Formats: sequence, structure tokens, C-alpha cells
Amino acid sequence: MPSPDRPYPATAPTSEALFDRARQVTPGGVNSPVRAFGAVGGTPRFMASARGPYLRDVDGREYVDLVCSWGPMILGHAHPEVVAAVQEAVGLGTSFGTPTQREVELAEEIVGRVAPVEMVRLTSSGTEAVMSAVRLARGFTGRSVVVKFAGHYHGHVDTLLAAAGSGVATLGLPDSPGVTGATAADTVVVPWNDPEALEAAFAEHGPRVAALVTEAAAGNMGVVPPRPGFTALMRRLTREHGALLVSDEVMTGFRVSASGWYGLEGPQGAGDDGEAGAPDLMTFGKVMGGGLPAAALGGRADVMSSLAPAGPVYQAGTLSGNPLATAAGLTTLRLCTPEVYAHLDRTAATLSAAASAALSDAGVPHTVSAAGNMFTVFFTGDEVHDYAGARRQDLQAYAAFFQSMLADGVHLPPSAFEAWFLSASHDDEAVGRVLEALPRAAQAAARSQSSVAGQTGT
Ligand SMILES: *Cc1c(COP(=O)(O)O)cnc(C)c1O
Repeated sequence: MPSPDRPYPATAPTSEALFDRARQVTPGGVNSPVRAFGAVGGTPRFMASARGPYLRDVDGREYVDLVCSWGPMILGHAHPEVVAAVQEAVGLGTSFGTPTQREVELAEEIVGRVAPVEMVRLTSSGTEAVMSAVRLARGFTGRSVVVKFAGHYHGHVDTLLAAAGSGVATLGLPDSPGVTGATAADTVVVPWNDPEALEAAFAEHGPRVAALVTEAAAGNMGVVPPRPGFTALMRRLTREHGALLVSDEVMTGFRVSASGWYGLEGPQGAGDDGEAGAPDLMTFGKVMGGGLPAAALGGRADVMSSLAPAGPVYQAGTLSGNPLATAAGLTTLRLCTPEVYAHLDRTAATLSAAASAALSDAGVPHTVSAAGNMFTVFFTGDEVHDYAGARRQDLQAYAAFFQSMLADGVHLPPSAFEAWFLSASHDDEAVGRVLEALPRAAQAAARSQSSVAGQTGT
């Protein structure tokens, strides 16, 4: 029962009507699975507009947004300069199917920020970027096996859907039907942050491994950074076995720092190797498109030069380097100043500490896990270092917490296996609304735990 002083009732009539219509014409009513609220229950809110840190739904209700389109909206929604850049671009034509100046500028911007990246190829989604990086690694090395970590998500690339995070984790799917046995047989899955398991995988498959593909810091099982020394181990093993290291920074890139997780951890993260500890290939997306479809793969010039038309590995895209996407992406990256990152870091620290305090007060076991300004509040009292640990969460408690926050006008990720995202526009007013909602949500989580305990007689 929503209490009377709650801003919003539990029902959302216009969203509910739209969701009914959507389910008639679209599988599950959504175009990306986690949006359907399957893991938290209730009806997803259909959004009509957004500005700064706020989303507004079709019933006219406003929410503080802690999803930020799953990462891209680092400046907040409808940032005036990004909107102006896109408006200017749209008036000049929406797609030419030819090279354009801004593609060069966006590539230069990325190369200028991320030291290991010497060349860049633009794509329209992170999925495409990782898929192309895997093909390139296989073409370059002449090998077939790809090693990945359980709970890491790299888009819906066939090769990498085994034991994947994000929606695959949210829905509790073991793997995806439709991925052939032959494809799955070329994928080796290893627990994250487990040095012995990684050494064993390379000892067994080493000469056949084309690439080790890793989220730079895991974000799609919830945020779980690499433990100290683990990045260095990945670098050492790939080099020893002649495999490429592909660091997927689609989520962390340009978000946790101007040069992503690499900027926070490496080259020191690669241990004594220094600069030589750089990944061979990296993938980007989300922030670099500023809310429009743009993503990229990049890395060593000799490897990247194997891509067509410079080399034999084919890769293409009708809308790759789209003029609207490059306008939004370039403007966004240029506005990501050191002050923006300092604000994100401070705000993340404030919010994660407040969430933790509210849960402690309510007696709800939890752990905050962070990678720079990205963080997850795991609903388990144990520290989380891998996917098995993330799965030990009390998902019921998270659902209760989520619903209470939503009813108080805060839009959290509708899954316990995701990061909470902030933007430069999350000011004291927006953060204040979240802080105010936290104690009641923590109590809702506590109540869900005591009612479950009651049912099971423990
Ligand atoms: C979001 C994400 C992808 C997929 O990007 P899409 O643009 O959704 O295809 C790939 N890798 C990581 C680490 C991601 O977070």
C-alpha cells in the first residue's frame, strides 16, 4: 500500500495502456529486455521527455534518473549544447554514405584521450564494436578460441553470450538458444578475478586463443572491478600465449575518467610492464555517442590495419559514423571536463554512502562495490568479487527497494545486476530527492526480508 504522502500511486495508467499495446506488437513489449521490469515487477514507465537529471513519463510524473540511458547521458538529458549540435547537424542532412569531417574529429578525440588507441573504426552499437573486435582478433591471429569472464556482458554477440551479464543475468538465462554449439565451443568462460582459473584456461587452450575479451571493470553483473594485479595477469598471459587482449570499455569508457578505466588503473594496472601493459584492442560506446548510436573499436595500428579496406578482415556499416551521432558524441566528449568527472566522483560517493547508511539503519545486509564513479549496491552482506558472489543477492529485497524508490520519484536500474549511473546535472536538488527516498526504500527491503523469513519459518 503506498502511503498517502507518497508523490505517486503504484498505478501508472497511461504506461499500463501503452505496455498492453506494446506486448501485442513487440516481444515482451520492449526493445531491450531489462526495460520490461521483469525482475522487479510492475509496469515499466514509458518516458515522454527528459531534462538534466529528470525523466518525465507519459502520466506526467517526474523521476530523478539514476540510469542515464544505461550510461550515455553523462551530461544529463537534453543538454543545450548537445541538442544545438544535433539540431545544426540535422539541418545539413541526416546521412550521406560518404566520409565526413566529424568522423575524423571523433576518431582524433578518442586517440587523443586513450593512450593505447592508435586507430579507430566507428560502428553504431557496442555490440557491433565487440563483434568486429573479435573477428579482427581471429583474423589477425589466425586462431579461433575466445576467453571471456562469467558475468561479463559484451552486447549480444553470439560468441560472447555464454554466462553473460546484464539482461542475460537479470533473466537468469543459462545461455541463449540460437547460438550454435560450434560457436559456443570456441568460447572458454572463466570466473572473474580468479587468477588460478585464468592460468589454467591458458595452460589448456593457449595456442588456440585468439583473444581474451574482458570488461575493463565489470559493470554488467553489477559493478565489480578487477582485483589488484588481475589486469596485469591478463596482459602477461595473453602476451605469453600470443593472444590479443581486448578491453571492453563500452560502459566505463569516457565515464569513469576522460580515458575510462584504463585512465584510472593503467598503465600501473598492468604491473611492471608500464605502457607496454596496454590492451591490444579496446571497444567504446555509450558515452561516446552522447545518446545517439555511436560506438567504436580501436587499438594498435598494426592490428587495426587488418580491417578492410586497409586489410582483409571485413567490417562495414551503412550508418557508421552517422553525422547526428558524431555531432552528439563529439560535443559530449568535449564537454566532459575534469570538473565533470570531479562532480561525478563526489556525487557517487555521497549517494552510495547514503544508500549504505539507510540500509544499515534498516538492518538490510548489503555491500557497495564501485569502479570510479560507477557503483552498485549489492543486496548481500558478503563482498562481491565475481558473478557467483553477485548472484548471492536477495533479489526480492532489491525489488522492494526499487519499487519504493520509484513510488518516491527515483528511477533506479530495474535489475540488481546493473550499475547506478549519475550525470553532471545531478545537483543538490536532485540528489536531495534521492536521499529523502532512501530510508523508506531501505525499510521496504527489510520488510520483504522479514516476510520471506516468516514464510519459510526461519
Ligand atoms: C552496453 C555494453 C555493450 C553493448 O553495447 P550496445 O550499444 O548495447 O550494443 C557491450 N559491452 C559492454 C561492456 C556494455 O556495457
